[in-house]
Amino acid sequence: MKIEDVGEFGLIERIKRILGEETIGDDTAPLKLGETTLLLTTDALNEGVHFLSSFPPEAVGWKAVSVNVSDIVASGGLPEVLLVSLNLPPKTELSYVERLYEGMKRACKFYNCRIVGGNIAKLERISISLFALGKTERFVPRSGAKPGETLFVSGTLGDSRAGLELLLMKKESYEPFELALIERHLRPTARIDYARHVSKYASASTDVSDGLLSDALHISERSSVRININTKNLPISRELQLFCKKYKKDPVEYALLGGEDYQLLFTHKRENWNPYLDMTPIGEVEEGKGVFVDGKPASEEGWRHF
Ligand SMILES: [Mg+2]
Repeated sequence: MKIEDVGEFGLIERIKRILGEETIGDDTAPLKLGETTLLLTTDALNEGVHFLSSFPPEAVGWKAVSVNVSDIVASGGLPEVLLVSLNLPPKTELSYVERLYEGMKRACKFYNCRIVGGNIAKLERISISLFALGKTERFVPRSGAKPGETLFVSGTLGDSRAGLELLLMKKESYEPFELALIERHLRPTARIDYARHVSKYASASTDVSDGLLSDALHISERSSVRININTKNLPISRELQLFCKKYKKDPVEYALLGGEDYQLLFTHKRENWNPYLDMTPIGEVEEGKGVFVDGKPASEEGWRHF
């Protein structure tokens, strides 16, 4: 049997069985040390899979930090330090690596964390793996959603996928709204402004990296609940609306399936809705299992690594 036959999540299930660790499968692994809960996570960006060599290296560096910070925020914490494991071909331009680290440094400044070490090795393609360590007052898993709660999402959904499609069109020039979408794909921002809200109120939480349907399914499976998403409530940016109008696409499809938005998806009581955050109630947690869209069972179609 090949990895592609079991898929990313089938593979994680098998690794869990070998290691016998129940906590595997959350955005971060919590580690309690005295009064403090540390959060550990790692994520990689690989050339040809997660980014192209034509992408600005500063943006790749920014994104590498952001995707790790996003997992920490999803667990209700803030980042402290990171390690960088960089694999690259010896023929890589020195300036490329310098610009990559400029981007990582800028992101660290923004998120108030530091890169404190790492490793460099040889490989045919560039691969950037980051390990991040954060802290939280309360670890929020994917497994705590309860029937009767509301499903919320931060920001807007689907922008990153539209941005990637625009990048791949390789147009001579782009309209301002198109550039805004491209920017959201190249330089996503981890929602550190939500860390306190998530740790204080969320029963379950994850970041939207694979796509809304796929990430909602993770909460549904780990919490043993049914999740119903209402498409009329999905937060869609003005830029995505313009994109869908111009290229005759369905914004709901982008919001449901588009990945890499690095927004937060979390559940809690409706009354804990914070009007000062850009959060939208997009669904309900119910008894049962599976993810439903407008009351109909949704097929699992998130972005897959294998
Ligand atoms: Mg995640």
